[in-house]
Amino acid sequence: MEDKQFKITLKCLFCGCDLKGDTEKTHQSGDMLKCQECGEFNDYDSLMEVGLEEGKALAVEYANNEIAKMLKGLFK
Ligand SMILES: [Zn+2]
Repeated sequence: MEDKQFKITLKCLFCGCDLKGDTEKTHQSGDMLKCQECGEFNDYDSLMEVGLEEGKALAVEYANNEIAKMLKGLFK
């Protein structure tokens, strides 16, 4: 299985729009990210939790596709 990068977008927990954070700045636990759309502050830890779940789902989907491809190759 090749290495694959999963791009996870952080979404505002309040309005659901993409958070356009300062990519130059590294955020860390305890940080609050302000949403440009609704002005609410998103807790970085909660965002990471959501992002992690999303990433896991993507990884599982990708793995399933790979397995399906492999199985197709086996039973030609
Ligand atoms: Zn928002």
